[in-house]
Amino acid sequence: MSLNSNNGKGQIILSGIPSSVGYSCGKAFVIKKSIFNSKRSEFAENPEEEFERFTKTIDEYESQLDHYLSVVGKEKNPALAVLNSVRSILQDPFLRDEIKENIDKGYSAESAVEIVFNKYKNSILSIKNRILRERAYEIEQIKNQIIEILQTKKLSTYIPEHSIIVANSLSPDQVIYFRNKQIAGIITEVGGITTHSSILARSYGIPEVIGVSNATNIISTGDEVIIDGYKGIVVVNPVEKTRESFRLKVEKEKELKKTLGELINLPTQTKDGKHIDLQINLNTKDELENPVIYHSDGLGLVRTEHLVPLNEIWNQNNLEDSENFQYEIYNEVAMKMYPKPVVFRAFDLGADKFPNFFDFAENNPMLGFRGIRLLLSKRGFFKAQIKAFLRASVHGNVKIMLPMISTLSEVQDSLQLIEECKKELDEKGIEYHKGIEFGVMIETPAAALIVDLIAPYVNFISFGTNDLTQYTVVADRDNSFVSNYFEPFHPSVLRLLKKATDDAKKRKVKVGICGELASHSSATALLIGLDFDSISVSAPNFLQVKKWISEISYKEARKKTREVLKKASASEIRKYLNIS
Ligand code: PEP
Ligand code: MG
Repeated sequence: MSLNSNNGKGQIILSGIPSSVGYSCGKAFVIKKSIFNSKRSEFAENPEEEFERFTKTIDEYESQLDHYLSVVGKEKNPALAVLNSVRSILQDPFLRDEIKENIDKGYSAESAVEIVFNKYKNSILSIKNRILRERAYEIEQIKNQIIEILQTKKLSTYIPEHSIIVANSLSPDQVIYFRNKQIAGIITEVGGITTHSSILARSYGIPEVIGVSNATNIISTGDEVIIDGYKGIVVVNPVEKTRESFRLKVEKEKELKKTLGELINLPTQTKDGKHIDLQINLNTKDELENPVIYHSDGLGLVRTEHLVPLNEIWNQNNLEDSENFQYEIYNEVAMKMYPKPVVFRAFDLGADKFPNFFDFAENNPMLGFRGIRLLLSKRGFFKAQIKAFLRASVHGNVKIMLPMISTLSEVQDSLQLIEECKKELDEKGIEYHKGIEFGVMIETPAAALIVDLIAPYVNFISFGTNDLTQYTVVADRDNSFVSNYFEPFHPSVLRLLKKATDDAKKRKVKVGICGELASHSSATALLIGLDFDSISVSAPNFLQVKKWISEISYKEARKKTREVLKKASASEIRKYLNIS
């Protein structure tokens, strides 16, 4: 925390978890927890009267939900499901019966609600699954709402427009209500990125930072507050210098939205409505600050060998330290992207990515000890990375991908290693997403030709056409002497794409591409025509590719692909596709 002077009130910088991206500035409106608890008495004399107060309260709460439903009713958004899940809690017969039992014992309606909801909350908190545990925040908030209505007969409605709400936590229906009040942002002390409140904040585009400890005490209603929903930073009473740098960021964000116009918010689909997941390749952490990333369908390739400072872990004797170090990095990426998928590729080291601390030399590293070959020979090093991936998968949006596969046994051995890692985490009681998806890169002809054999072991494949091209046409991707041989439109490369895709699709394995070919204007039609499910490109190419996809029809693309696959040479294909 840093303190500077600003009109007598110091600037305070707080940090939390970025839960919904965007920048925002406004006056704080602090919701203190204590307003819910002030007038409560523990016991009541007349149980019948108390139970009637309780049922009337639930009716009032439900009529509020009806009101929200009428507001969001026409929208196709998660709010409907969220409101219905709040309603199902309110209508839960066991919950009502237990509250009645407690009222009959002499407790006031408020105390009975407190006792029963706390019991439910605690039983949820004792569940090992972190996502389910995050539901406990919602139970707490629904309880607070009921108590508020019990005490004041209705929910508080006064929130000035464009406020930044600061609260311990928010219930989903509060987020829906506040959204109608045009609030500028949300800061909470607790919460999780998978709670319904966070999901709603994201889908409404309200910048939100959660997990800002003690925020309701540090921030006062009326304080000026800046939210950076990309980094999870909150600035209270900003000094002029901070305001200025914030203004610049907002300008940049606005400019980007203007340039991208409508396109950025539209789904990625062809003219005739075929949806393609358009994702982004991530190399380094600073790329996470590019707002375009959050308009994509996720990260289709994270090159972890660039993301992680390798010199920190390569000679790490303590593998637990290496795992912890990596976990922090992967978890940050996964949380920032949540709920969108993040495909972490295991370290692809060797060949062109040959760190200077490697203690071996090869005459021909491109055909040497790289990717999965190196990983499987350094099992401890590999396992530390897998465990870090698994731990970061706990929210459910992480996938694992392996580089440079050339044999089936590499896939089988890696899977066995992953199972070993899962078992070791289980033994320590460490959580991960049990249904985590696993896939491989198809970067060698050897792998492309055995996709039918690999398919039973994987959920997805992704073509790395940079390497697939170099190994198919036998031309080093980095050697300018043979750059005219490095030809991704060579019929052999396209035939491999076609065969491997068909083999994967027949076996219900998803197919994607993350090589540079994905960003080539004339390849877009081919990839759509080949029936790719996802295309992953570098961030600067994202909108251009999105535009190309929107300009083609699936039908035309199929036809074009059929024609291309009949051609005998790259030059014929280039001519047909109008590539100079
Ligand atoms: C590829 O080979 O196409 C690929 C995406 O991997 P990299 O460029 O990291 O080798
Ligand atoms: Mg590659």
